[in-house]
Amino acid sequence: MSIKIEDYYPLATFNKMKAFADKHETPFVVIDTAIISQAYDDLRAGFEFAKVYYAVKANPAIEVIELLRDKGSSFDIASIYELDKVLSAGVSPDRMSYGNTIKKARDIRYFYDKGVRMFATDSEADLRNIAKAAPGAKVYVRILTEGSTTADWPLSRKFGCQADMAMDLLILARDLGLVPYGLSFHVGSQQRDISAWDAAIAKVKVIFERLKEEDGIVLKLINMGGGFPANYITRTNSLETYAEEIIRFLKEDFGDDLPEIILEPGRSLISNAGILVSEVVLVARKSRTAVERWVYVDVGKFSGLIETMDESIKFPIWTEKKGEMEEVVIAGPTCDSADIMYENYKYGLPLNLAIGDRMYWLSTGAYTTSYSAVEFNGFPPLKSYFL
Ligand SMILES: *Cc1c(COP(=O)(O)O)cnc(C)c1O
Repeated sequence: MSIKIEDYYPLATFNKMKAFADKHETPFVVIDTAIISQAYDDLRAGFEFAKVYYAVKANPAIEVIELLRDKGSSFDIASIYELDKVLSAGVSPDRMSYGNTIKKARDIRYFYDKGVRMFATDSEADLRNIAKAAPGAKVYVRILTEGSTTADWPLSRKFGCQADMAMDLLILARDLGLVPYGLSFHVGSQQRDISAWDAAIAKVKVIFERLKEEDGIVLKLINMGGGFPANYITRTNSLETYAEEIIRFLKEDFGDDLPEIILEPGRSLISNAGILVSEVVLVARKSRTAVERWVYVDVGKFSGLIETMDESIKFPIWTEKKGEMEEVVIAGPTCDSADIMYENYKYGLPLNLAIGDRMYWLSTGAYTTSYSAVEFNGFPPLKSYFL
């Protein structure tokens, strides 16, 4: 397997990023904000009627927050720390939701005191906390979805509840003086099977209908979460196709009278804008006759590449060296044997790849810097530069 840059970036863009990278010591992520801006515009064009709440956890850098603030985005916030950061960038609290269903009562109060009025929930205990700490707020209930086998980074199971419980919670929300506002789901991050949205929207439709008929509750919102694709080795449909299909599913169930729709993209907005630049530390074989080479690099599971866990996300790796390829194991620099990125899925790298050569991990703008350990083995957190 050899990676063609043109499949991932316009050549001019890549050359600009590489020229910048050449002047800096590895490891780091270089991010071209113009790509984020374009991805945001593309998403807006695909879903004209939807509001975008950027999932801050994907990349919480101030450069990203400010860019999306200026483009009119809203923000999906998961903690009081993200909240403080986005508030300090001057975003008003009516452009934020507290999307984490796992939260302390005092943190709910903190959000409420700062002016946030929209909260996700998926359990009775959390809902009761919201009713006390954020009286009168809007709540939407997250439902469980299928699709965990076709998402490269599943996000259900831990979050969401069954449809029956979602209805119970929305009724309870009303009885507790909250606004039972809508439903949310997340079909799994890097969801490659678009029909996962079909199943989720159908579930949502049933709950909308039943609550209206049986309890007189009229829901107003569907929060469709993230799950939109980035460009990795395992290819996906284009965002355009995602949008066309998902809109078709929505219209099949809701006709032209769509409820308010929220999207919460993280990965699809940011990943393709970043390149993680690393350097080969060592190349080794485990015995005189071993056919397999180990390539150790200066970045690993603990410095930004945690999504290689179970080899879930297969980042495209590019090197300047060309020629005969050989299958390798790729591992990080720390004294932890879990720090192996790819062993089962065989990456081919050039035979002449040597110590000191650079390896470029493409599509690494999201879920890298924010996942990096702060001091494991003394290595500093993964840096990023914005162009
Ligand atoms: C992480 C997360 C997202 C972002 O998902 P992507 O697949 O990265 O787009 C959206 N919504 C919620 C609630 C999340 O936790």
